[in-house]
This record gives sequence, C-alpha cells and structure tokens, in this order.
Amino acid sequence: MLFSERVFCGQLTLGEVGRRVLLAGWVDAFRDHGGLLFIHLRDRSGIVQIVFSPEIAAADVCRRAAGLRAEYCIAVRGEVKQRREGTENPHIETGSMEVLVTELEVLSESDALPFAVSDKAMVAGAPSAGTDTVAEDLRLQYRYLDIRRTSMRDNLIARHRIFQCVRDFLDSRGFVEIETPVLTMSTPEGARDYLVPSRVHPENFYALPQSPQLFKQLLMIGGMERYFQLARCFRDEDLRPNRQPEFTQLDIEASFIDEEFLYELIEELTVRMFAVGGITLPRPFARMTHAEAMDTTGSDRPDLRFGLRFVDVTSVFAQTRYSIFRQILERGGCIKGINIQGQSGQLSKNVLQNEYAKEIVPSFGAKGMTWMRVEDGKFESNIVQFFSELELEALRGKFSAADGDVLILIADPSHATVTSALGQLRLHLANRLGLIPSNSFCPVWITEFPLFEATDEGGVTSSHHPFTAPDRADFDPKNIEELLSLRSRAYDLVINGEELGGGSIRINDRDLQRRIFAALGLTEAETKEKFGFFLRAFDFGAPPHGGLALGMDRAVSMILKTPSIREVIAFPKNRGAACPLTGAPSPVKREQLAELGLLNLGSQDVLPGTAENENRIDRLSWVSRIGLSADERPGMEDVLAQADALALLAAQNAGEGEALYTVAPVANRTRPGIQEKCSPLAETGQLLSRAPAVKGRFFKVASILE
Ligand code: ASP
Repeated sequence: MLFSERVFCGQLTLGEVGRRVLLAGWVDAFRDHGGLLFIHLRDRSGIVQIVFSPEIAAADVCRRAAGLRAEYCIAVRGEVKQRREGTENPHIETGSMEVLVTELEVLSESDALPFAVSDKAMVAGAPSAGTDTVAEDLRLQYRYLDIRRTSMRDNLIARHRIFQCVRDFLDSRGFVEIETPVLTMSTPEGARDYLVPSRVHPENFYALPQSPQLFKQLLMIGGMERYFQLARCFRDEDLRPNRQPEFTQLDIEASFIDEEFLYELIEELTVRMFAVGGITLPRPFARMTHAEAMDTTGSDRPDLRFGLRFVDVTSVFAQTRYSIFRQILERGGCIKGINIQGQSGQLSKNVLQNEYAKEIVPSFGAKGMTWMRVEDGKFESNIVQFFSELELEALRGKFSAADGDVLILIADPSHATVTSALGQLRLHLANRLGLIPSNSFCPVWITEFPLFEATDEGGVTSSHHPFTAPDRADFDPKNIEELLSLRSRAYDLVINGEELGGGSIRINDRDLQRRIFAALGLTEAETKEKFGFFLRAFDFGAPPHGGLALGMDRAVSMILKTPSIREVIAFPKNRGAACPLTGAPSPVKREQLAELGLLNLGSQDVLPGTAENENRIDRLSWVSRIGLSADERPGMEDVLAQADALALLAAQNAGEGEALYTVAPVANRTRPGIQEKCSPLAETGQLLSRAPAVKGRFFKVASILE
C-alpha cells in the first residue's frame, strides 16, 4: 500500500464520510460478531473502528482478518461511514464513524502480550481496561508496549510540548541553546560521580556531569551572555522515590544580571510551562527567606497550600512552673507549636495522647509533645493544670485559639529538633486531616540560604555549590563561626513542597573564589588540581553572572499530575537504579575490564573486598564505600577492636565462648513457610480503620513513599 496516502485514525472527521482512506496502525481490540469483525485500529493520533463485513470485503480479506490479534501491525483501505444511531462509542473521539474495509495488509504480527495495551472499551458503557495493576518492572521491561498506551503516549507528547515551550520562550529572550560535554571532569554538586574508564589513558577516568555548572560559567566567561540547555545530568546518589540516576535539567546562565532578572524570567517561564498542562499559577510568586521558611514550616521547601504555621511560644513559658518546659528552657531550648483550627472533632484525646504524643511525634525525633484542645472557652489536656492562667491566656492570644481548635507544642533543648519534628508533624496532620486543597499550586522563591553548613569534622561545606556568591566578601576563611553566619545569593523555586530548581548569583572575583575554596578546607594544591582550569578562566575578565537549573522530569510530572517521575520519562530506571528493559547495569567480560586497564587497578590483582581471608579493614572500606585512607586505618582498627571486645563481653555474659556478631536471630518474616499471625484487631477491621485507603488487608502508604 502507498503510505504517502495514509491518513491518521484519530483525525478522521464526519467530513471524510464517503471517502476511501488508507489507515495504518495497531489492532487495539477486536470483537467478532459471527462473521462481522469489528476492530479498534490505533495509531499515535488515536483510534477508529474498522469493520470487516463479508458483504463488502472479499472472502480472502475476511479470512485473513479473522486471524488478526491484539497489537498486530496492519494497514487497511476502506470507506468512511457514519455509524448507525445508537452504535456510537463515546470512549473514542472518532466514535461516530467507522471504516468499512476492503483491503488488508498485515505488516507485522505480535506475540501474546505480557499485559493489555488497550484501554478503550469498544462499546458504550463497558469499562475500559487499565494497567494500574501491572507491576511497574513488567511495564518497564516491555516499555515499548507500555508507550503504546494512551497515558504514556500522552505524557511523552506533553513533555515534548513543555520542552518546546521552554525552547521558544528562551529563544525569544535571547538565550542560546549550547551543548556541553558528557565525558568530562567531576562537577561538585554534592553527589558521587559516575565514572567512565578511559581505554586510551589507562587508569584514568572521565566523570559524567552532575550538572553543566563549570561549563556554563565558562560560556559566560566566553562571552555567550545567555545560555540554556536541556541537559542530561548524572548523580550516583542513594535511592529515593522520584529520583533517577540520570535526569534532565533545564540549565540556564546569564551575564550582567542580578536576582531580579532571574526571578522575572523564571516566573514567566514556569507560568508558561504550567499553562501547557492547563494550570494557571498564581502570580507574582511569593518569596520567603530560608530563615522564615524554617521558622514557620520547619522546611526549606515549604508546602504553602495550607496553614499550620509555627508559632514560637518560648517567651510565654519564661517563668513557668511546669518542670519539663523549665528544664528545657534552662538548657537553651525553645517551644513552638501549631494551631490545628477547628479540628478537635477529628483529634480526640485518645488520638492525641496515644497516637501522636506516644508514637508519631517520637518517630519524628522529638521526645514528646504537649497537646491542648479548646472546648467551651477552656483548654483541655492532661497537663493543663501545670500552666498558670497567665500562660494560658498568652497561648490563647499567640495562637488566636478558639473553640474546636487543637494546639500542639513541641519543646526541646535543640532548636533543630523542634523545627524538624514540628515540620514533619505539620505535613502529617495536613495529609491526615485533608487540609491540602487538590489542584492548587503555591510557588515560592526561597532566598538568603546559609552559604555554608557545618560538617561533623568541625569544618564547613557549601550548602549549594562553591561558586555561589556570598552576601559579603569581607570574611575570614578560617573563622568557622563567621563562615556559618554568611548568607548566600542563592535561590530555590519551590512549588507545593517540592523543590523544582535552584541556582545562584556566582562569584566572578578570582580572589574571592580562592578564599571560598580555602574556607572549604581545600589546600592551594588541591584547588589547583580540581579546579585549576576553571580558576584560570577567571584571570581573563570574568563578567558578573548567575543562573539556575530546573528539574524537568519533576516539573513535567507535577504539571501532568503523575504519581511518579518515571511516568514522564520514556525509558527510566526502576527504583533499584536498574533498567528492566536492557538489563543495565550488567556485568562485563574480564577481557573488557582488562582492555580498560581495570583488572590491575592499584597494582592489585584482586579487587578489595573480594579475596578470601581478606583484611577486615579492606572489606569494610569496600562494602561501605567509605574509602579509608592510609592514615585513617589505625583509627578504624581501634573501632573494630572495641567492637570485638564488646561482642566478646556480650558472649561471655551469655555463657558462650565465642564473639557474637548478630544479636537477634535472623528470621524470614515475609516469605511462605512462616506462620503468618493476624491480630484480632485486623480481623475486625479496627486495625486499618484510620488508614487513608485500604485494599483487602493492606493499606496504602503516603505517596511520598510511593
Ligand atoms: N548547577 C546547579 C544544580 O545543578 C544549578 C545552578 O546553580 O545553576 O543544582
């Protein structure tokens, strides 16, 4: 058949009735009505029903049609007809017409399918099949079939539209799309690098870019002024839901600009991107300093779709008789709380005391919490008698507490513990009480981040990356306290509690950049080795510049409201960072390792941690990927010796002569063969009575855990 004459299934209109058309695509579904065969023919544009009738098609065509099965790839020719009244199918856009086939060509057959691709019912009112119940790894293993499904196809097309919108907009603002290398040197973004061995330079490695950070800054020094790239980035991080080892960033950099330029640019861009998905973002985007975000929500990526902001009530209890609070305050601690307005009906004494105070809040890292319900103008709780009238009145004022409200306070000597526990509690309560409005979007710029964070070793590390400009340049790189008080010119764009992206105004002064490296504890020699080429560029007139990167997989997933970013990536890795389709990562032949010079790394024949009777320190260092250096080994020997001594002591106490390495006996808790015990509460359904969604004897976990 002549494909140049082909028309698209989903684009047929009643205007084509009476025309002979050539269609090509896949058999989505079929129905055999004793000689009369109905088929849903699907191509990328949609579905149309085609009909094989012995009264119209030759016997040979009907015979071959009878052999068609799901996902056969075919081409047909036939006449477009309007369907008889009452036989229209509202499930498909072309549901008021069908094509009466006269010619059929089977282009390629299909094996039986691992899961159903079709999700459009053939008759009005019939339920459409879905793939919700198909295991994700199976979908990923047969991703090409999965992509034939409407939802995946629509997601990928929408992703393309969003990318296209980004390109058009940035082009209109004078930005140039430039590619930067994938085989490169390490870029510091705080994760591990993926390394690629070089064959021609044995024992040397390229790193895959964690971001194009260094190159985009070099492009600014190169005078390109406005750059962008839809860049693939690679970060070898611990597995978490909604993370991929490789992901796509919209990377942007511009010269002779300040923060306001980027806020305006990115607001306009983000609004346009979301508009592709029919979402209108509220403007102007809110702004919040990092300190304010932490103080009022306990998070540097606050979800502002609901209230439950923190109120600091430390001062209320300055003179308190309540000994728990008094001791905490004497130790320099603080007390903060939230008012859960009008929810006392949902939060009984029992729930507050037995669930929240005993279980949930301790699991968030705080020792406990104090709750109070407001009923008939009075505070009600198990400890209210310890508070003075003055304190209670002050609380009422600070929280604007009214009947039906529930106050929860958390007190701790560590401010960080209060903030973190209350922040988690805030999200927990909002989810449980249904306080998060669906279909609402709250973008906010978070600004004035601390430039550095303290490390366990008593030094500092960059909160963003080491090229971020500080708010002032007159600091002493050796004074840790002063370093920790510096703010950065960095900003994050957060929507609904998710960080969509972030960036900063960069350092363009070579001496300042060197002092930042010194503050990070890098010696001159280390700085030169890691960033010599980069710093050298600053010797040639670096312009002031800044930029940011937006996580595009995350953004598209948010716009399309998909449950995971894997739904908007054509060929993602699974949660185990593996690809069920190709089998990557996979072992390679020893010959290949030898060719890459990887067998004799460090002149050892055997990789550390794989030899029999190997050194324990080698093994520990290898399995934990700690990478112990020679001078750290004696310290680790000590730690192991202490652990041995303790284990031996425990064994002796237990009356045995040998060191104990496992305290609890290992038992298989989930596999068959183990007697499953069921609590009587489960039998009566009480156990899951508060679960947000229950299926059989299981409950759904919050979406953050997937
Ligand atoms: N390179 C940064 C990142 O990947 C973004 C930026 O500072 O522009 O997070």
